[in-house]
Amino acid sequence: MLLLIPGPVTTDARVKAAMAQDYAPWDNDFRQTYRQVCDGVLAIAQADPGEHAALALPGCGHFAVEAAIRSFVPAGGRLLAPSTGAYAARLQKLAGDAGRVAVPLFVGAAERVDPQAVAAALERDPTLTHLALVYSETGSGICHDVPELARIAQALGRRVIVDAVSAFGALPLDLRALPAVDAVVLTANKCLEGLPGAAFVVARRDSLEAARGNAGSWSLDLADIYQHTLAPNAGPRFTPPAPTLAALAVALELYREEGREARLARYTANMRALYDGVIGLGLTPYLPPALQGPIVVNVHAPDAPTWHLQLFVDALKQRGYVLSNFYNTEQPTFRVGCIGAFGADQMRQAVDAMGGALRDIGIHRESAGTPLHFPLPLTA
Ligand SMILES: *Cc1c(COP(=O)(O)O)cnc(C)c1O
Repeated sequence: MLLLIPGPVTTDARVKAAMAQDYAPWDNDFRQTYRQVCDGVLAIAQADPGEHAALALPGCGHFAVEAAIRSFVPAGGRLLAPSTGAYAARLQKLAGDAGRVAVPLFVGAAERVDPQAVAAALERDPTLTHLALVYSETGSGICHDVPELARIAQALGRRVIVDAVSAFGALPLDLRALPAVDAVVLTANKCLEGLPGAAFVVARRDSLEAARGNAGSWSLDLADIYQHTLAPNAGPRFTPPAPTLAALAVALELYREEGREARLARYTANMRALYDGVIGLGLTPYLPPALQGPIVVNVHAPDAPTWHLQLFVDALKQRGYVLSNFYNTEQPTFRVGCIGAFGADQMRQAVDAMGGALRDIGIHRESAGTPLHFPLPLTA
């Protein structure tokens, strides 16, 4: 079974195998694994270990997004949150429910965040202390120019929180060059190709010192987790998802062997095989090539009387591929992840299976469309 949901992703057999044993979280061997994965995450962020720390939290990505907002934006504080799609909406809700004010900035469904609009919104409202960004908006498939937007925030004296959950490890990130970024949120189970259950926040040490007392939640207090890491031979604060972290240690070795650029190139090849492939099936991708990111492709639901997303998902699962069974866009689209431990040949087989699944539910396309041409390099 190949997972084409955009996370958790299909993993290498060696990654899964690391979970098949019991781990004692405060045992000295495991402490070493724990530090190894935190150091690995820090290195991928191109962070400076003297200035940044990688903090592990048990749970899913949303928990870590909430932890970052609570820890860095004080209660009642205001953050500018461009409305890029479903995941930006989740960030806004997490902030609002935590008693922070997420001020939305309109972004069209098929648009990148406009740097000038961000600058204007921050200039207009000096009470906006933070800018919160989704790097790869999983809802649409668009990647936003986080480095450029972070530089704008820096120039205007604002801090930045980045939900990089579906981007981290594939899209470029150089934290040394982005001092305005307080926090980058990621999980083990997307582009790092680990298993679910472990989230991380890479954060500035000075910001973590200044964040004491902000969170209003002991569980989600990054400042407290950080203080805990400063103890000699520090291990996890509370029980970590130890098997997931042990599996991540293996996934990070495979990551280092492949390299970020090669991983991004593999995902981009997967995306193109999928994008051209669905056009070949007579379907229409949601985004034009110039906006299509390498992580997730949305495809318009076929305008056919027998279309039913769950029936399509079920038929495709019979053929060995799992897709998400919900819509993330206003118009009905099915979304397909391009990330995970597989390559373009497998994606082409998945496209064939999609054609078969469409036939299974009574959708026969006579004329296949012509593949579109990708004019631009997709990411810097
Ligand atoms: C996957 C994802 C998350 C986190 O999802 P969880 O289900 O909480 O792990 C957050 N933001 C983005 C952009 C994502 O793709």
